Amino acid sequence: MHPRDSINDPAPPAQRDPRALLREVFGHADFRGAQEEIIRHLVAGGDALVLMPTGGGKSACYQIPALVRPGTGIVVSPLIALMQDQVAQLRQAGVRAAFLNSSLAATDVAAVERSLLARALDLLYVAPERLLTARCLEHLSRSPLALLAIDEAHCVSQWGHDFRPEYLQLSVLHERFPGVPRIAVTATADPYTRAEIAERLALGRARVFVSSFDRPNIRYTILDKGDPQRQLLRFVREEHPGEAGIVYRLSRRSVDETAAWLAAQGIRALPYHAGMDNAMRAAHQARFQGEDGVVMVATIAFGMGIDKPDVRFVAHLDLPRSVEGYYQETGRAGRDGLPADAWMTYGLADVVQQRRLIDLSGANDAYKRVASARLDALLGLCETAGCRRVRLLAYLGETSGPCGNCDTCLEPPVTWDATKVAQKALSAIYRTGQRFGAAHVIAVLRGGGGERIARWEHDRLSVFGIGADLDEGAWRGVFRQLIALGLARVDHAAHGALKLTAASRAVLKGEQRVEMRRVRGRLAAARKQRTAPGTALPGEAATLLDTLKAWRREEARAQGVPAYVILHDATLSEIARRRPGNVSALGTISGIGVRKLERYGPALLALVNPGDAAASTRA
Ligand code: ADP
Ligand code: ZN
Repeated sequence: MHPRDSINDPAPPAQRDPRALLREVFGHADFRGAQEEIIRHLVAGGDALVLMPTGGGKSACYQIPALVRPGTGIVVSPLIALMQDQVAQLRQAGVRAAFLNSSLAATDVAAVERSLLARALDLLYVAPERLLTARCLEHLSRSPLALLAIDEAHCVSQWGHDFRPEYLQLSVLHERFPGVPRIAVTATADPYTRAEIAERLALGRARVFVSSFDRPNIRYTILDKGDPQRQLLRFVREEHPGEAGIVYRLSRRSVDETAAWLAAQGIRALPYHAGMDNAMRAAHQARFQGEDGVVMVATIAFGMGIDKPDVRFVAHLDLPRSVEGYYQETGRAGRDGLPADAWMTYGLADVVQQRRLIDLSGANDAYKRVASARLDALLGLCETAGCRRVRLLAYLGETSGPCGNCDTCLEPPVTWDATKVAQKALSAIYRTGQRFGAAHVIAVLRGGGGERIARWEHDRLSVFGIGADLDEGAWRGVFRQLIALGLARVDHAAHGALKLTAASRAVLKGEQRVEMRRVRGRLAAARKQRTAPGTALPGEAATLLDTLKAWRREEARAQGVPAYVILHDATLSEIARRRPGNVSALGTISGIGVRKLERYGPALLALVNPGDAAASTRA
């Protein structure tokens, strides 16, 4: 019997009901969040502006209406890699999809154009510059269009770092194709960008759908920086062995260094930054997307266009630029909804460095004030003793309660009365003339030797050696918190000298108490009980998952596509856990639609039920 005949409810795609399409084509049982409402709104001919976090399921919001409505759905997408990926995944699901961009040879372009004109395409992905050509617009006007979708719509914003000038002209679509519903989607939460998108794309009358930007499957952890590479290595080995992740660093040099160091420790790590030549960069990106378990060490040049659903962690070894940047970068973890980590180490040097970048930026004062305020918000997130997620969401304009899935919720930080220690630190800054950086002031407090101390006769000061009871790391934590609390500041016009602030006085005079967090470079064992998605399965299921992944790797290699284009991790995990014994049971697993059941069902059932030759055909 052909597997397709054995599905209990073989509603043909011709039925064109959104929910039936979700099940048959994408293999999902139910809509998520606002998906259904958005889809119904578009099917009825309305325009929509959709703000949903990464991994929220934005693509279904235009893909399904494109299948329901007659004609071809046109999707404007800014990056070739994104288009290729989406089209590969759609084709796997049996959707007639194609793309037009500069990666295609002229004969391939002609073939896609013929399919469009022959009305043989459900979805066509087009690069914006291509779409705006007279030729493309002419072809579109000769074809019935189901809808126009603008992906990554924040590219229209001149203030964001993903600005694409061609996006500005996309408002012509509105004039050119007035009756065709339009949908713009983005994961950018910022209300300014939202207003800008609506205005520039002439979506003033579109219905706006805003989802919560919470990413509940991401666990946030921010640790005190010791030796960050070693901290990272331990984290990867203990919590994400063999899994894909991204490590962000600030400079190209540190990217190269960390990638080489990790590789020498046996981690499959690759560097990625704007200083590498294009071919090498593209090759590294392709390996990250296509192979299992590659760790990409990158500057923020590695950003948009990462469509990989199974990134299990994003690590920051340096402080990001802002809370917004932190949210976007960490958001690349766990698109598939499975547990993922956002892990960061941060220390005094980061605070000093970020201040320096602002102070020496050469920008005007207004810009510096905004940048400073942003940095303060980020430091607030790093130093908080409360829930990280509450802080993060508050920054994005949402109120929430303690999440239970961040480091401070899981292991509340120990705070201590640091008033005396703060007084010692501030006195030392004062007594040394507010002319020295933290390293020197700490050496004075700890009663260290050295040429500089002797030269300035700082061993004669009353503060010399009064802080010998704390080690250097602890003192750095104290100075970092003093700066973050605004009780001291770094002056870059004076080579990074520490200075007192207006707020220092009350502390020195004993009028204000200072609370600090106990420094911690790692978390206690309790936390590690949460394991990676694969190892969370009971032994037998974990073994089966490995077998399924090996099969998928082979299949992906044979077809020349990334593994997740075949089936997502979440789907393989569910198969391993539920061990479907027949075709209809397999068909109820999320991510397996009619086409994938037909194509991969027999192989999967044979792997799940070895020795039961009948399973792969049994209904
Ligand atoms: P976004 O573009 O918003 O980042 P995607 O469209 O890539 O998100 O979807 C993220 C993940 O969620 C994908 O793995 C997708 O298969 C899955 N997904 C989308 N909609 C549903 C749904 N209704 N039920 C289950 N999984 C879904
Ligand atoms: Zn929390």
